Amino acid sequence: MANIIKVLKGTKDILPQEIDQWHKLEKNALDIFTRYGYKEIRTPILEATELFARGVGDTTDIVNKEMYTFEKSERSLTLRPENTAGVVRSFIENGMARLSAPVKLWYKGPMFRYERPQAGRQRQFHQVGVEMFGIKEPIADAEVILLAVNYLKSLGLNDLEVELNSLGCPKCREEYKKRIKQVLKPEFENLCEDCQNRYEKNPLRLLDCKVDSCKAIFEKPEIQAVIKSDFLCEECSEHYNKLKTYLEKLDVKYSENKLLVRGLDYYNRTVFEIKSNNLGSQNAVCGGGRYDSLVKQLGGEDVPAIGWAMGMERLNSLLPELETTKLDGYIVCNSPIESFELAQELRAKGYNVEFDLSNKKFTKQLEKASKVANYALILGEDEIKSGKVSVKNLSTSEQITVNRCDINLRKL
Ligand code: ATP
Ligand code: MG
Repeated sequence: MANIIKVLKGTKDILPQEIDQWHKLEKNALDIFTRYGYKEIRTPILEATELFARGVGDTTDIVNKEMYTFEKSERSLTLRPENTAGVVRSFIENGMARLSAPVKLWYKGPMFRYERPQAGRQRQFHQVGVEMFGIKEPIADAEVILLAVNYLKSLGLNDLEVELNSLGCPKCREEYKKRIKQVLKPEFENLCEDCQNRYEKNPLRLLDCKVDSCKAIFEKPEIQAVIKSDFLCEECSEHYNKLKTYLEKLDVKYSENKLLVRGLDYYNRTVFEIKSNNLGSQNAVCGGGRYDSLVKQLGGEDVPAIGWAMGMERLNSLLPELETTKLDGYIVCNSPIESFELAQELRAKGYNVEFDLSNKKFTKQLEKASKVANYALILGEDEIKSGKVSVKNLSTSEQITVNRCDINLRKL
């Protein structure tokens, strides 16, 4: 065992005993998103590095520190760190702006970020997400948020908190940025290195800093006063107020968080996160927002859009453990070929059935059946001669003998 090759740090196998939960996340995504009119899109994991530099923004941690980037045939390629940029690329490339709005797309799959691995933070992780293109009205924001809430509810996750903020538009945000810079100027030397770098390029991102000494600075009353001040222009303010009214009408509980600015550069107006109190410090399961300028910024038409992404590992850790599903039936018989034939008949009917492939004794087969299946399908000599099967319910031990064509494992 000295020389075994191990899974890379920050990556994980998803093992068979965990897969039922993953299937549940994926099945509910398909069901609920379809109900809201979304279609799945599958874009490549590998994209041109430039897509993320331009799409996610070169002042973000993702682009500056976290991307897996390499050269191949003199091109710079990157394993996608998120999927909004890829979906937008595909939207533009495939002329989806011509389709009647809204265009509603969803995706699931692995993302890659070179981060410090810890609970709830991996280097390869999975996201499920949605993107809605073509609608600028706040009713779209409400529908997208409600979709996230309903998806989480479908998984039995009811007690999560929606946090909401508005980042305004580039115009009104400019004034806010100036005010933030001004009030933080005397503290510049006390800010962490990252914040000092962000100060000029993207001052709003300072508010998102997780470093304790920075957080303490932002608590100062004169700084809080600026953070909490109202900077939204009339239109942005109307958009935000309408969204809040819709959410209230739809019974979505939310709280406002002025510090919520999200890590990506492309957001404007609505941003939101959904958090759980059961996740420790990596407590956000869902992050999203409106990105009205991204399609144009990546060379497309002027198409507004809004979306969100959820971390599937974090979702998984909130779900109650599912019991592993058992086989419908396990055949117990001394003749492998008789077992095989019965197995094929039942598999053709749609049942999940196995039989012994290794010449085990009858009693050992029965023991195995009780571990792996709901029913033991017993084929003794009498049963074989008469074309019947004894079906034993392994949870109640009830046993009945039926014609093999009448076996109905789900109704028994
Ligand atoms: P965080 O603040 O936790 O780093 P983020 O703002 O970088 O999150 P997004 O880019 O908005 O995250 O991604 C949406 C969701 O994807 C997050 O809410 C989280 O559930 C999940 N996620 C992000 N990064 C990771 C990671 N490295 N490992 C596991 N899940 C992650
Ligand atoms: Mg992050």
